Amino acid sequence: MLWVLASLFFSWCAFREIRGSIVARPGFDAPTPVTKPYLALVLSLAVTSAWPPLHTWHFQRLLSAKATELADNHPAEVHCNTLFDTTHAPEMLAAGHANPDSGEIGIQHPWCGTLMSYLRHPERADERELQSLDMFTHESMHVRGERNEAVTECQAVQRNYRAAKLLGVPDATARQNALDYYNGFYQQRAKIGGMQSAYYSDQCAPGKAWDEHLSDSTWAIP
Ligand SMILES: [Zn+2]
Repeated sequence: MLWVLASLFFSWCAFREIRGSIVARPGFDAPTPVTKPYLALVLSLAVTSAWPPLHTWHFQRLLSAKATELADNHPAEVHCNTLFDTTHAPEMLAAGHANPDSGEIGIQHPWCGTLMSYLRHPERADERELQSLDMFTHESMHVRGERNEAVTECQAVQRNYRAAKLLGVPDATARQNALDYYNGFYQQRAKIGGMQSAYYSDQCAPGKAWDEHLSDSTWAIP
């Protein structure tokens, strides 16, 4: 929001400068010629400050479309929360939250940025970046209709490979990333215990009760 206001302000400065060169300003007899360096400066500031909100808007549209696909066409709408949204959101500590009824997914600050950096270099994803991929898949599973956290998370780990590919990650890297999350952070949840264990089940494994036998499952043998 601040970026939008800044961009509008600089656009207004540019407009005022151009108008002043056509119509005389109050108190002046004749129009004043444009100060080119000033105009160039405010125009470039207007464009630069419009970039972050445009970039976020574009990313949200991409995530909304892909979340809808992951949710078997239950319409999803992803919103990347700003720092301001995040501190006012009810579930401030969770990285994301989803409303299975409305299809709205809110991603907390700075997790959209983490997901963006994952997508810039998936072949060297760190643990947080892998978690950002899973968070996106997890919230999509809520939109698909599941409310139980452990089941939702299990549906997500099986689809992280699919999710990464939908977001443009090359096939082999997508599978490796999804497996790394499943074998790494997902298994650690059982050991961490507490709130984390609500997201874990030992039935979430190949051939176990919660295996959905997806043809493109994270753990399917290629
Ligand atoms: Zn959840």
